Amino acid sequence: MSAPQPINPPARVLLGPGPSDVAPSVLGALAKPTLGHLDPAFLEIMDQVRDMLREVFGTTNELTFPMSGTGSAGMETCFVNLLEPGDRVLVGVNGVFGTRMADVARRCGAEVTEVAAEWGTTFSADQLRAGAEGTYDVLAIVHAETSTGAHQDLSAAKTVADEVGALLLVDCVTSLGGYRMELDAWGVDAAYSGTQKCLSCPPGLSPISFSARAAARLANRKTPVQSWYLDLSLISNYWGSDRAYHHTAPINMLYGLHEALRLVLVEGIDVRAQRHRRNATALVAGLQAMGLEPRVAEGERLFPLTAVAVPDGVEDAAVRRYLLSEYGVEIGGGLGPMKGNTWRIGLMGSGSTRRNVTLCLSGLRSALEAQGRTVPGDPLAAAAAAYAG
Ligand SMILES: *Cc1c(COP(=O)(O)O)cnc(C)c1O
Repeated sequence: MSAPQPINPPARVLLGPGPSDVAPSVLGALAKPTLGHLDPAFLEIMDQVRDMLREVFGTTNELTFPMSGTGSAGMETCFVNLLEPGDRVLVGVNGVFGTRMADVARRCGAEVTEVAAEWGTTFSADQLRAGAEGTYDVLAIVHAETSTGAHQDLSAAKTVADEVGALLLVDCVTSLGGYRMELDAWGVDAAYSGTQKCLSCPPGLSPISFSARAAARLANRKTPVQSWYLDLSLISNYWGSDRAYHHTAPINMLYGLHEALRLVLVEGIDVRAQRHRRNATALVAGLQAMGLEPRVAEGERLFPLTAVAVPDGVEDAAVRRYLLSEYGVEIGGGLGPMKGNTWRIGLMGSGSTRRNVTLCLSGLRSALEAQGRTVPGDPLAAAAAAYAG
């Protein structure tokens, strides 16, 4: 066998549903010297991560820190800590991640009621209410459904959670870092996120936050949390004042998250949210000029992720291959009922730029032309007009 070569990943522009392009200074932070997980210098970094995370989540919740694992580990953390066998959970299912939440809740032994909405739509309070029967322990819903590009109004979910006596659990994987989050003001009891979407960090950590009500529910359990690794009552002893060893923290990933959160705060949460809105609006204008239609109605559309219908007669995978090979641009395909008929374009975190909007639109135009389509309007002119307007 010849000597193994170092890896050499090609340069890409990641405009899919995540991971998104990692900010250069985050990559730099990852390469700094590894410290011991109880080194006082590292404990100080942890404290700063917690403080910044609270600010970006919009909360003063004591129980706020990143879990070791990707977004799905954060999802599992919320359910395993809040649920005991026989507990009742109401889940809004309008995409892949609502479906996954229902699956995780069932694996905890909970009695799960799924309320379904068509993929690409969101829930009104009436829709959630109509699916509920009696009282619940937890109402779980996705804030930013990355599989469909839909943005859930959380006030509707909060209203119904209160009516059915439930704690409100929210998937914030794609909203954290792309929107101004207000967990406390919105009355969210448990939230989880991920690092590789609008925080522009590599995948590997999952920020979570539990309200005082959620923490009390954890403290009053009759049975131990079924997962040792994800048990917040153990892990909070490491992130809290005890600093007791639980598992070795992923030190360098936490350096990366520290830098990513710092970038959010230096830019300003509102400025960053506005940037996501502006670039997504220009992208949609350009797509529409090419005759491509968004999957989600205006007003319910996510800014970090735009889902668009693949026109009849165009081959989904061929277009994505063309973009990757000719432009170095990655966009996502559809999942579930949207497989083969939807593209998902992410403009997340540091990847939400006018340059990327322009690159993506011109790449898509050439890809469509390469398939023999005549593109009706000029996407770049339409995007430019959106920026000017
Ligand atoms: C990406 C994503 C997840 C899952 O995160 P992983 O990091 O892939 O485990 C969960 N929910 C939403 C809304 C997501 O976009």
